[in-house]
Amino acid sequence: MVGRTERFNTTRFETPSMARELDHECPECDEEREFYRAAATHLHLGLKTKWYCPECGFGFVRINGIDSTAV
Ligand SMILES: [Zn+2]
Repeated sequence: MVGRTERFNTTRFETPSMARELDHECPECDEEREFYRAAATHLHLGLKTKWYCPECGFGFVRINGIDSTAV
């Protein structure tokens, strides 16, 4: 867990929802990947972010940090 603490320190000026990387299980790779944020949009219901797996290109959307299939 030491490595995670170091990474949090480098992003301490951003809120968690604005992080540029996200550890998330990829259904295509069938294992945990470090997704990257491709886009972030402010909607009336909150912050919508799009994430992509760098290994296979699988993408998903989150709204206020909650997974959503409504792209
Ligand atoms: Zn993947």
